[in-house]
Amino acid sequence: MIVMKFGGSSVADAGRIRNAAEIVRSQEKRKPVLVLSAMGDTTDYLLEAADAALKKGFVSIEKVEELHLKAVSDLDLGSVLKKDLKSLFWDLGSLLTGISLTRELTGRTRDCLVSFGERLSVRIAAAYMRTLKMKAQAIDAWDVGFVSDSNFGRAELRNESFVRIASSLLTVIAEGITPVITGFIARDDSGNITTLGRGGSDLSATVIAAACKAEEVQVWKDVDGILTADPKIVKDARPVEWISYEEAAELAYFGAQVLHPRAMQPCMKSGTPVLVKNSYNPKAPGTRIEMQSDKNAPLIRAITSRKNITLVDISSTYMLGQPGFLARVFSEFSSAGISVDMVATSEVSVSLTLDAVQDIGNVRRELSRFAAVDVKTGKAIVTIIGDVRRSSEILGQIFNVCRDESVQVQMVSQGASKVNISFIVNDEESAGLVKALHRHFFGETSSKTGGRKSAAGRARG
Ligand code: ASP
Ligand code: MG
Repeated sequence: MIVMKFGGSSVADAGRIRNAAEIVRSQEKRKPVLVLSAMGDTTDYLLEAADAALKKGFVSIEKVEELHLKAVSDLDLGSVLKKDLKSLFWDLGSLLTGISLTRELTGRTRDCLVSFGERLSVRIAAAYMRTLKMKAQAIDAWDVGFVSDSNFGRAELRNESFVRIASSLLTVIAEGITPVITGFIARDDSGNITTLGRGGSDLSATVIAAACKAEEVQVWKDVDGILTADPKIVKDARPVEWISYEEAAELAYFGAQVLHPRAMQPCMKSGTPVLVKNSYNPKAPGTRIEMQSDKNAPLIRAITSRKNITLVDISSTYMLGQPGFLARVFSEFSSAGISVDMVATSEVSVSLTLDAVQDIGNVRRELSRFAAVDVKTGKAIVTIIGDVRRSSEILGQIFNVCRDESVQVQMVSQGASKVNISFIVNDEESAGLVKALHRHFFGETSSKTGGRKSAAGRARG
């Protein structure tokens, strides 16, 4: 069997659903299990509706209802499905009314609310596939064993999910059914609905693939695979043909919004290959993510950047040589629930980075009791994913480009994962630098430069 996951834009309307169904049909013999996201921007619409109910006492599911009912009528799915959807809309409306009356929105309620997106999309897609004579069945993830902890908004699946998913899904497949499963959602031990974090359907798909020992997972998106850089920054960005799980995970984590950062874990363990494909361009080869390390690996695979980063410098001569300094620093961040990304240390100081959205007021106060704390906002992390066994070569070239661009590097870290080199620059310099690095490592397309290729781009590429 294979797992085929379609993201929101690949099922955004009737036309996209038809297109996805065609892709599935062309591989029906491989026994596909489908995992779907909510249609288009439904998750955002639901979050907006929750906000309006909470802050203004205003209840409306119009946008969500319109989008789905239009798809139902465009796909000619008739009245049977409409009844099914009506009861979901009714529950959704009631939930929003509850929020508007209590003016309270807990993580638990929010997860329950956004779950409607995926529950709606699978029902519509499965109904449509049945009109094509496929034996498709819509399934809510919890009905095939998705159990999680109660960490609403970013729940972790319990280990027992794997065994449950394997046994329930293999039975369904044996009956010749094509399961169409909700991505993104699960239930905790008490039966409350949970979500796996934004973009979590990728993780649902890889979990199913690992659990059922699938031949491969296909993640259908709206780009030609994992790209060498963000195409919004680098027009020349091109698909990466092949990449390891580790590299893909680092890329996702450091800002390439192609895959959910945790989605690689299950397949890394099971060795299941992951294919990232473009549903708008199914013929394009896409990106293949798998285990084996490539002897002819290029120097670097991709460049990514993440803006709006805060850099914190903590120094203390008082703590000089004292054991436990770092432990104390990190325990302050940990008790404040703040996640730290990059770290660099010297004997008397430590620099670290975090997402600016996290409020560090309290931590700063606590740290100031024993250290000097300097907080700088407006930074960006630029990350190079590549063959870090050749790190000196990569670092040398990075610094040359930075010098040529007159960009001051403010902190450097080379991940122990051996695939990532990250460094900090000012926010406003990051896009220009990413462009320059891309030009240096990957060359420019022939249309612009008459076929000029940079030396590094050609190196073992
Ligand atoms: N619908 C959810 C989101 O938009 C999950 C997903 O698409 O993977 O984040
Ligand atoms: Mg989505």
